[in-house]
Amino acid sequence: FLFLAVVTSVSLILIYIRFREKGLLARSAWLENTVRDKTAELLKKRDEIDGMKTRFFTNISHEFRTPLTLINSAADELIDENEPGKRAGRISTIKRSSGRLLTLVNELLDLARMESGTLVLKAEQVDITSEIRLIWQNYISDADRRKIELGFESVPGTISGWFDKEIINKIMQNLISNALKFTPENGKVQVSLAEEECAGRRAQGAGEEKPCIKIEVSDTGKGIPQEELPRIFERFYRVRNSDTPETEGTGIGLAIVDELVKRHYGSVRVESRLGEGTKFT
Ligand code: ADP
Repeated sequence: FLFLAVVTSVSLILIYIRFREKGLLARSAWLENTVRDKTAELLKKRDEIDGMKTRFFTNISHEFRTPLTLINSAADELIDENEPGKRAGRISTIKRSSGRLLTLVNELLDLARMESGTLVLKAEQVDITSEIRLIWQNYISDADRRKIELGFESVPGTISGWFDKEIINKIMQNLISNALKFTPENGKVQVSLAEEECAGRRAQGAGEEKPCIKIEVSDTGKGIPQEELPRIFERFYRVRNSDTPETEGTGIGLAIVDELVKRHYGSVRVESRLGEGTKFT
């Protein structure tokens, strides 16, 4: 009996060890596979980021080159130009192009400030209706030049609250200039402002419950393909298609918008239909 008991116990132990061993082997194979998959995923992501960086440097160089070339040749022509009308034209080219360069450099600095966490919210009591109207007004002549109707609508009266004017300006400038850039002649860009219930969110107001403020920039432009929508707020990401040259734009604008809106305790979303238009809220 003793012998039988020993044999059974030993067999049971052996069976258990085999079983454990099998389990461990399966687990180690699974771990190996997971590590392999994750590594492949990381390498793919790294290649993607490398590609985006290269494209970004190429794009940014082109973005610098165009206005610099314009400034350079306008300055050359200015040297020999005596007619006041023509001089004024050259000077305004220089002014416009250097303004573009300044915006670009400021965007890059904003990005760096966000990265290092040194961007702070400087809120003050602001009438947001007139603030947005002022920003909108700055784009009227640009829209006229492009033969685009630029509309503005808001609730009657004023809406006041705590805002960082500089941040609101940057968000709106990016959205309105994108809308104008991607909308063809005879199209329409609309800026609208409304109050709405803060569904699930609380407006950052002291004391009493305040409604949330909804700002929309919509256009009747070329739209964004559905599958690209989740990525357009990524840094350096640009929708690639046949009718915009690879080297136009930098893909920073919307990444800045997304970050600034979050800093301002808000959220931004986009809806778009290819060939019909886009709405940023
Ligand atoms: P950039 O305009 O410099 O390329 P953005 O970050 O501002 O960079 O925009 C990212 C991409 O999103 C753009 O390349 C463009 O394809 C797309 N996009 C942004 N706004 C609009 C719009 N209003 N209509 C159509 N496409 C848009």
